[in-house]
Amino acid sequence: MSIFAARLTSKMEKIFNNTEVAFALKSDTELKKAYFLFKLISKQSLVKIGTSLTHFAINSKLPVKGLIKSTVFDHFCGGVNEQDCLQVVDKMYTKGVSSVLDYSVEGKETEEQFDATLAMTLRTIEFAKEKQAIPFAVFKPTGVGRFYLFEKKGENLPFTESEQQEWDRIINRFDKICSYAHQLDVMILIDAEHSWMQDAADELVLDMMRKYNKEKCIVFNTAQTYRWDRFDFVKKVHLIGLQEGFHTGFKVVRGAYMEIERQRAAEKGYPSPICATKAQTDATFNKTAAYIIDNLDNKMAIFAGSHNEESNEMLIEKMRQQNISHNDDRVWFGQLYGMSDNISYNLAKHQYNVAKYLPFGPVYDVVPYLIRRAEENTSVAGQTNRELDLIVTEIKRRRNIR
Ligand SMILES: Cc1cc2nc3c(=O)[nH]c(=O)nc-3n(C[C@H](O)[C@H](O)[C@H](O)COP(=O)(O)OP(=O)(O)OC[C@H]3O[C@@H](n4cnc5c(N)ncnc54)[C@H](O)[C@@H]3O)c2cc1C
Repeated sequence: MSIFAARLTSKMEKIFNNTEVAFALKSDTELKKAYFLFKLISKQSLVKIGTSLTHFAINSKLPVKGLIKSTVFDHFCGGVNEQDCLQVVDKMYTKGVSSVLDYSVEGKETEEQFDATLAMTLRTIEFAKEKQAIPFAVFKPTGVGRFYLFEKKGENLPFTESEQQEWDRIINRFDKICSYAHQLDVMILIDAEHSWMQDAADELVLDMMRKYNKEKCIVFNTAQTYRWDRFDFVKKVHLIGLQEGFHTGFKVVRGAYMEIERQRAAEKGYPSPICATKAQTDATFNKTAAYIIDNLDNKMAIFAGSHNEESNEMLIEKMRQQNISHNDDRVWFGQLYGMSDNISYNLAKHQYNVAKYLPFGPVYDVVPYLIRRAEENTSVAGQTNRELDLIVTEIKRRRNIR
């Protein structure tokens, strides 16, 4: 590491390590509760047992809603409906941290449920229009259509007549969301999911960008940079945008489905779409995010969704080198609610644009999301230990000043 890089790292570490800023909104009791929660989910065996027990309890209709609600749900979610979230939205915004209301109901398969998600997403676009504290809306492709259809479309397999009608309804839902976002001038993030359904989603998002990103970035696709092909993919979409005259927006993340991706590739005997090592994923994330920062003036915008301190530091340094103002509206940082407050609140303190995903939905319906968060905090051991260290530091700091 060069002397300059070492200096930068230590300067930014100091910023991200400011626990007084990070936890200003948490009471002593809330801090202790967060400590116990992270302590619990840091143990892989406990998460495995907890996951199986939760599935068993829900399937057997045992009354576990209260337990889930008072533990992981309250920590990682804003509430069961959008109204519940508003209190949290307002509170975070007092410290300059914005919110993205994320209707986190997953795994639904019926047309009624897809229409309900459509209606809820349109509603969150209205919320975003009304409230400065909510700069984006978001949705998941499989929230508005069956996974199987995305998969089949991506494989270029012929649809039956009724599948074609179903696919047309999916296109229609995408279009309703993106055109409403465009009409109300609200940016819309479209999440990325499993690689074997993503090709079809990417095509749809590209069409939405073509239609609604003519003046500026309204529609953002997501690049999961644990996929080794995503840097080239981002560049390809950007090139199409330049040729056809639309803006290209990407949420850049590492990716949440690594284990299942690798497992499926191994089972089916195709090359894994995932980078071979964590270092390669880190490099792909940094390269992709840096490419977008380098091309802001070439019609690009970024939402960098990461809890990785080095990647956030790298972006900040790139912005500094290129004289990009901290609150440039083409650059957003994002973390998930309940995670990495040290990054979110310290970035906001320094006037960067930051938004936290604030999931909401009926308790049982957001369980798949909650399980992903518990597993993520278990498998990325360094991250959980960091959360725990920061909480302990803050508890001690408060004790010392009393
Ligand atoms: C605002 C926001 C929006 C998000 N939206 C999406 C989304 O639309 N789709 C989605 O899939 N995820 C999404 N995520 C989740 C995100 O992918 C995970 O939170 C993220 O992977 C955790 O990585 P990190 O950048 O915080 O950094 P780290 O904690 O440094 O990285 C952990 C990640 O690195 C990768 N990794 C770990 N080990 C290896 C290995 N051995 N080899 C290769 N790669 C490895 C995995 O992706 C792992 O999750 C979002 C996250 C945020 C904060």
